[in-house]
Amino acid sequence: MRSFTTGCARCGHVAAFPAYRCRACASPLVLDLAPVSAADCRPTSGRGLWRYGRMLPRVRHSVTLGEGATPLLPLRHGGATTHVKLESVNPSLSFKDRAMALAASAALDHGMTGLVLASTGNAAVSAATYAAAAGRRCRIFCATGSNAGSKLATARAHGAEVELVAGHYSDAYAAATRAEGEGWLNVTTTYRNPLLTEAYRPIAAELVDDLGDVPDVVVVPVGAGPLLRGIWLGFTDLVAAGLTGREPQMVGVQAEACAPLARAWGAGDRGRAEWAAALRQPFEVGPTAATAIADALRGYEDEGLLTLDAVRRSGGRIVAVGEPAIAEAGHRLAGEGLFVEPAAAATLAALRNPVVAGSERANACVAVLTGHGAKESSTLTAGGMA
Ligand SMILES: [Zn+2]
Repeated sequence: MRSFTTGCARCGHVAAFPAYRCRACASPLVLDLAPVSAADCRPTSGRGLWRYGRMLPRVRHSVTLGEGATPLLPLRHGGATTHVKLESVNPSLSFKDRAMALAASAALDHGMTGLVLASTGNAAVSAATYAAAAGRRCRIFCATGSNAGSKLATARAHGAEVELVAGHYSDAYAAATRAEGEGWLNVTTTYRNPLLTEAYRPIAAELVDDLGDVPDVVVVPVGAGPLLRGIWLGFTDLVAAGLTGREPQMVGVQAEACAPLARAWGAGDRGRAEWAAALRQPFEVGPTAATAIADALRGYEDEGLLTLDAVRRSGGRIVAVGEPAIAEAGHRLAGEGLFVEPAAAATLAALRNPVVAGSERANACVAVLTGHGAKESSTLTAGGMA
């Protein structure tokens, strides 16, 4: 495993993990990991997330429920060019399990009370699941103004304590932030906790192992976007270790109804200050079935810069897709035996965009199917299957 330091993404100020914001400039923190060798990027005898444990930041515990090492399948209607990565088959049915396995391990390392987060969705279920696996508590802050569905019932079943906060998501986010100083590890799955992004690095190694090559394009649904950045960081590891000669273009997908990153990207590549200003531009959030990526980033706009930076450095782009296209993509995937949440289906909708699906090469494109449809089956059957 890799030693690391924690520092500011903007000014380089160093912090001691666990830490959440730069004390000098309040920007998001990132981890700086020691380099890896080619051998470090190969599978070990470890289980779950720890199969590629040498790519991860060093923790002493290794909580696992068998997450990771998810299947990569060719898409029947995608020709030879498109594969899907089934993060939907992780233990709590979403990619968040990779991050929560790492977070729960770190919480044990630091003798913390448990995991705390602001969420009503996949992250809440995953945090509750892994806190239970680690024998630690889980506190979930949920805004009264949010649409709390059946996912919180699942979290409660794992023993999570759900606390209602008057207001909207940003109020729940602030409540989770306040708990950071009280012995809780904040695992709100924006970039709040810099550790979580690191758990996605092994996805890059899994993809290259399964494909035998680097894909040209990796399409990822993004709210704040730590999954996209984490996968990209994994590819930079493979390049640095000499295992591959290039990175794929990272393509982030948002729903048109809530697309702050796509809007900022569309404003042009004008540098950090201009992107930061674009992310602060007020905009109206419309209804979308893709709730898992409907994140307006209000109150933590600068976190979006980390995703924009990864996309730019990979030569990729961020696109937005409409509700009919998301619904149609969900229907097509279900028709191939793949029942996924609308946010995951958005990847396939993006692939219909000729700018995204430019390559006809075999194994050219991977769409990351982030979450299973079982937790949102009412949405899918009511709207998506019309
Ligand atoms: Zn700073």
